[in-house]
Amino acid sequence: MEIEIFWKFTAFLFGLVFGSFFNVLIYRLPKEMNIAKPRSFCPVCKTPIPWYHNIPVISYIFLRGKCHFCGTKIPIRYPVVELLTGFLFLANYKFFGLSFTFVLNIIFSSIFLVLFFTDLEERILPDELTIGGSILALGLSFLRKDVFWIESFIGGLIGFLIFIGAYFLFLKAKNKEGLGWGDIKYIILIGAFFGPMKMLLIIILSSIIGVASWLFIVFLMKKERDYELPFGSYLSLVSIIFVFYGDKITIAYNSVFR
Ligand SMILES: [Zn+2]
Repeated sequence: MEIEIFWKFTAFLFGLVFGSFFNVLIYRLPKEMNIAKPRSFCPVCKTPIPWYHNIPVISYIFLRGKCHFCGTKIPIRYPVVELLTGFLFLANYKFFGLSFTFVLNIIFSSIFLVLFFTDLEERILPDELTIGGSILALGLSFLRKDVFWIESFIGGLIGFLIFIGAYFLFLKAKNKEGLGWGDIKYIILIGAFFGPMKMLLIIILSSIIGVASWLFIVFLMKKERDYELPFGSYLSLVSIIFVFYGDKITIAYNSVFR
């Protein structure tokens, strides 16, 4: 029992540290900056951030959410991503124990988390994660027993065909891009990781959330009708839910519709 608590705490701490790194990815990947160099610096006064100002969550609290040197506000996203990653790692440990599935799901739920924020903040889904993730998902499927490589391949292919079809339909009907190329590359990753069946459910659920939030944003918050939704963020949110509950949701779906 005590050893369990130790592992859970360790998973959470690792999550906090990785979350700090994911903040760097969320900031730098959309700007096509090098992710290793230079060291973290304040974007306003350019002062390099000393390690003791860079401790996940704790530094944010001690600095009262401001750069120590110039007083610029540090976005709340920094501690939020750190905490979310902490809980994400903890949940992966709780669900999968120390196993191959644990490592696999940590990697991909982390990719989904980073893509959630890059799309939300910049409307960008970086190729490093979408294309890189697709290749990784296909490669790792050779080691998996739940999604075979052929399912991984077909999942990616069907996802691509559905989104490229939707892309051109939208272009013809509205004369503008409804889906971005980033979304098309992203669905290949989702298909390659989850296989075709779960991917289709993820598309359906993300679309429902997309329509609901479009109605909310346009009619209740009175934004422009052509407000661009972060569809990649919805795909990310539903994908993270599917990492943990995908099997249950698929079984429930099949029992209702078959
Ligand atoms: Zn500063």
